[in-house]
Amino acid sequence: MNILPEILWRMPDEYVYLTFDDGPDSAITPALLRLLAEFQIPVTFFVIGKKVEQHPGILAKIQAAGHAIGNHSFSHTVMTWKSRLDIERELTQTDKVILRTTGKTATLFRPPHGRFGPNLLRSLRAVNRKMVLWNHSTKDYRATTTTRQIQSRLHTVRPGQIVLLHDGHANSGRMLTALKNALPDLLERKVKFKALPC
Ligand SMILES: [Zn+2]
Repeated sequence: MNILPEILWRMPDEYVYLTFDDGPDSAITPALLRLLAEFQIPVTFFVIGKKVEQHPGILAKIQAAGHAIGNHSFSHTVMTWKSRLDIERELTQTDKVILRTTGKTATLFRPPHGRFGPNLLRSLRAVNRKMVLWNHSTKDYRATTTTRQIQSRLHTVRPGQIVLLHDGHANSGRMLTALKNALPDLLERKVKFKALPC
């Protein structure tokens, strides 16, 4: 029997799919939303349930701006060898806080640290969720990554890529500066952006 849920790690079209993990963050996310609104770019946010509990108003703003929202677990624990019960608790707790704010259940899930094992695959399949990975990382989560490095990785995006970024990290200020610097050039090159279907 096939135990695999649908897994997205690239897209079959000409768009670039920016994804932002680990928020909502009270400092970074509102500034990121302003930047995305300025350039009219739809993206996808993978939010952590316990941060949504702290900042439901920011999640409401993400939704109002028309971005896609995905589940990124409740506590950001690595799920590779967790029991199905533990995994399903992480999923449903986050589903609940997202539903409470947005009125919708997230159909997309990104595993913390991109790591997964058989139980997570089974659980996602059981509740019919898509698991979203990526095929272009800006490595913005590393403390040693500079603004310039993030920017040059943004400059190399290609059609069909799912791009990994973070709005909930200590380094996310660098990500924001890099994105602000890269976007005018990307738009001039006619790079087109889209939110993941959800
Ligand atoms: Zn994460």
